[in-house]
Amino acid sequence: MALCLKQVFNKDKTFRPRKKFEPGTQRFELYKKAQASLKSGLDLKAVVQLPPGESINDWIAVHVVDFFNRINLIYGTMSEFCTERSCPIMSGGLKYEYRWQDDSKYKKPTKLSAPQYMCMLMDWIEMLINNEDIFPTRIGVPFPKQFQQVCTKILTRLFRVFVHVYIHHFDSIINMGAEAHVNTCYKHFYYFIREFSLIDHRELEPLVRMKQICHRQG
Ligand SMILES: [Zn+2]
Repeated sequence: MALCLKQVFNKDKTFRPRKKFEPGTQRFELYKKAQASLKSGLDLKAVVQLPPGESINDWIAVHVVDFFNRINLIYGTMSEFCTERSCPIMSGGLKYEYRWQDDSKYKKPTKLSAPQYMCMLMDWIEMLINNEDIFPTRIGVPFPKQFQQVCTKILTRLFRVFVHVYIHHFDSIINMGAEAHVNTCYKHFYYFIREFSLIDHRELEPLVRMKQICHRQG
């Protein structure tokens, strides 16, 4: 029997602590607005659209942080099944292999195991979203010029978590009764990145079939 989601997505299993929006800030209000429309049962395609009068960068910032929290939680729950032994290469099936690169330890694209890759990825995103120069939280402080470029990179890499989890750990998702939850998160993410053309279509190829399933489910 499927466990209830509260049991499956136990907060203790979160891979990284959640990034929270400060209550009272404009972004917190925007987050609450996005959450309210998400819960209202509206079509996800409509939910991702920029509300009138809001800034696109604020809208993207809120979603990047929210997707990081949710995907982080999904992977945290799966991480016991994703080990050095089960996944010595960060991949999406036989056809797609992802190498890690950053500005510090891995200056050249480097083959890592899936758990190592995920660890680097979550650390890297956490560092970026907590960097006031990139994700400013103070009122009146503008977003930097490269903001959307940075978000594109974050979302492109977060998408790979879906690719790996769906292709390599789908059985675990089913066994935990988490399929509907993961699908909803994926679908929301997918509509969001499509709405604002944030990920190159070539990156989406590994989950083309998945997309068809999501569309069939409405
Ligand atoms: Zn794995």
